[in-house]
Amino acid sequence: MPNESLDDTGTMGIIDQWESEVRSYVRSFPCVFDRAEGSRLWDEDGRCYIDFFSGAGALNYGHNHPLLKAPLLRYLERNGITHSLDMATRAKTEFLESFAEIVLEPRGLDFKVQFPGPTGTNAVESALKLARKITGRDSIVSFTNAFHGMTLGSLSVTGNAFKRRGAGVPLGNSACMPFDGYFGTDIDTVEYFDTLLLDQGSGVDLPAAVIVETIQAEGGVRVASSAWLRALAAACHRHDVLLIVDDVQVGCGRTGPFFSFERAGIQPDLVCLSKSLSGMGLPLAVTLIRPELDQWEPGEHNGTFRGHNPAFVTARAALESFWQDEDLSREVVAKGQHVHRFLTELAGKCGIARESVRGLGLIQGLDLENTGLTREVCRRAFESGLILESSGPESTVLKIMPPLLVDTATLEEGLHRLAASVIGALEAGSAETETHA
Ligand code: PMP
Repeated sequence: MPNESLDDTGTMGIIDQWESEVRSYVRSFPCVFDRAEGSRLWDEDGRCYIDFFSGAGALNYGHNHPLLKAPLLRYLERNGITHSLDMATRAKTEFLESFAEIVLEPRGLDFKVQFPGPTGTNAVESALKLARKITGRDSIVSFTNAFHGMTLGSLSVTGNAFKRRGAGVPLGNSACMPFDGYFGTDIDTVEYFDTLLLDQGSGVDLPAAVIVETIQAEGGVRVASSAWLRALAAACHRHDVLLIVDDVQVGCGRTGPFFSFERAGIQPDLVCLSKSLSGMGLPLAVTLIRPELDQWEPGEHNGTFRGHNPAFVTARAALESFWQDEDLSREVVAKGQHVHRFLTELAGKCGIARESVRGLGLIQGLDLENTGLTREVCRRAFESGLILESSGPESTVLKIMPPLLVDTATLEEGLHRLAASVIGALEAGSAETETHA
């Protein structure tokens, strides 16, 4: 029987009626999406949007890339196995082979691959558990403004107060240290960390591990310098503390190289990878483990969805299509520089400090230092057909994350809409201030 209330509210009414209040992105982008291709999405009314969000980093190669879609369709058509727990499948062995040959070996990285469950937080949880098991220590050090996921272990190393309150229980066994630049450019926060660990009176227990994002994406596009990352890795090594790099959002080429830590020349003990690993937005995560640290007992950490074979198929296709050479990395760096320049000019025109522009590769941020203004920019962007998100503890940072393969014309069009939204919101803001004056 047709639902009469639908006639009044449209298909969005179904969301309002049935989906939990916890829903979030639908509130920022209030339309019903239907199709997507490359860097564009269309809603059910046929309206087109440029995507500067890329599924929060899950769509580095854009939507429905033909080089990923074709092998997936072929796989399904021949009844390739879809679900397999963690049994051996051809799709999995082929993915592992490609991952080793294309990603690990050329970079001189020796890692065992754990499939911890399909999402980023699954990779983080397993890394934290393994670090505690190996060292016999309880505590994990994380950083101010870090974001590592929404399950309890990941939340305990996440900075955001609103998200932490959602836990409903005390979040313990973690210690928070200042990220690079937290106290300004003059204070070396690794030295601070090192000093606390050396001082038997500091009250900071020797942790099992340090978990770090090389660029804090959700935390407001904060870039750790390569020197800071190297110093952190050295401090971890000195104190026999494991180093976990959470590359869930900025891995898979977002900053240029496949892994975001390559620029610093460091080798973490554990690496968390998810989001764009499958290439098509299908859920897939891995925890990479230095071989001598792979001290799990069989089945000690398991889960039903660790053998998502369609995701293995598209992940392998993504590696083979885009990572056989350095072309994509170079392209991302060049596009990133272009976006950075554009934002710096825009900031200059709008009287915003140039330090408000930060980022590397195709994760760039513009900190407007005003929550209401940032919300208004995103609203205007959406109205003009641009999907743009904010980040940071007060949601003041515009986060610009187009697909890595975005073509020049679409990138320019998106940047143009972004600039118009910023200028429009600022003008409307000053008009409002004048009216209230
Ligand atoms: N780590 C980082 C750095 C992330 O950005 C995210 C997701 N935004 C996660 C972990 C959690 O991933 P998921 O949402 O897939 O659990």
